[in-house]
Amino acid sequence: MEILEQLSLTQVNAGLEADSPREAPSCYTPAHKDLPITNARMPNGQTIKLLKTMVTSACERDCFYCPFRAGRDMRRATFTPDDLAKTYMTLYYAKAVEGIFLSSGIIGGGVRIQDKIIATAELLRGKYDYKGYLHAKIMPGAEKDQIARLMELASRVSLNLEAPNTERLRRLAPKKVFMEELVRRLLWVEEIRTTQSPFKTWNGRWPSSATQFVVGAVGESDLELIATSEQMFRRAHLRRVYYSRFTPQRDTPLENHPAENPWRQHRLYQSSYLLRDYGYSLEELPFDQDGKLPLDTDPKTAWADVHLRQQPVELNRADWESILRVPGIGKVGVTRIMQARRVRALTSLHQLKALGINAKRAAPFVLLNGKRPEYQLSFG
Ligand code: SF4
Repeated sequence: MEILEQLSLTQVNAGLEADSPREAPSCYTPAHKDLPITNARMPNGQTIKLLKTMVTSACERDCFYCPFRAGRDMRRATFTPDDLAKTYMTLYYAKAVEGIFLSSGIIGGGVRIQDKIIATAELLRGKYDYKGYLHAKIMPGAEKDQIARLMELASRVSLNLEAPNTERLRRLAPKKVFMEELVRRLLWVEEIRTTQSPFKTWNGRWPSSATQFVVGAVGESDLELIATSEQMFRRAHLRRVYYSRFTPQRDTPLENHPAENPWRQHRLYQSSYLLRDYGYSLEELPFDQDGKLPLDTDPKTAWADVHLRQQPVELNRADWESILRVPGIGKVGVTRIMQARRVRALTSLHQLKALGINAKRAAPFVLLNGKRPEYQLSFG
């Protein structure tokens, strides 16, 4: 089988890092129109064409949501590290791709497949002197030395927890062991980063790390997902937690389970950013008694409705953290407000709008020189 044809068989299901994982990527070129290439946003905001591929699409495990699960009737493809590295570099030199996401099904155990991912990454960084983006998966059950070696080669490493705890994972991926196989390995990544020098890494820095959850397949609550995310941000210093809403795959045990509402995925992302970047604690997020986030309001506005509507923030005097709590004002907005108020008092929403702030959203929660702004004004 032609290797490019094989590549098209190995699309990674999860949609990790893609802006619009289930839409046809706009970066397809006529020559490679069937390849699994998606637009992925990098930490610096740049978008790159990312080839998402697997060392093998064969798998001995039977995760209930996964199209590659054991026993499912489908064509499988397996690459040697040499073939995969060489083919990727051909696409890279042709400017069809700008980064690679290396994952795999599991055949013969996670340790064996991890070696193949490492061998592919070694060829890319060594033989081909590749300096671009390389996101590599840590396999369930991988050894600590393997993880350390992978971290010397990758720009980012990740391992999907899939579910927020042991009980939920048992119903989603019965052969995966939550603490032992998955969580422990993400903690090792942080341990390696904090105890070993990165001088042997390809660029002198340790890679960032990430995980992903499947959302809406086994009845887990938003509270369960966000509580585990919070723990992993704190203990494993993950850079990102991805929430992949469940969509049923034909010929899997969950094929008749309904797809999850995309708004739920969106609210989970917003909540995780509040935890990671905005100084909110888990207790401050607006879960209802069933552990659900509101779908019709973003979590920052829901918090502000309760805490700021009656006690608005005076933008001319408040500190950085207090202003950041106002809906419509992000980190850049806070900085601009603090710079602007040194020059002249803020007295109107038009001044906020001129600073690039969503003044209409912020208006119900702020004071400008002691007065509530007239926020019913048109901002057209
Ligand atoms: S380990 Fe599970 S999620 Fe990964 S490829 Fe195999 S069946 Fe799919």
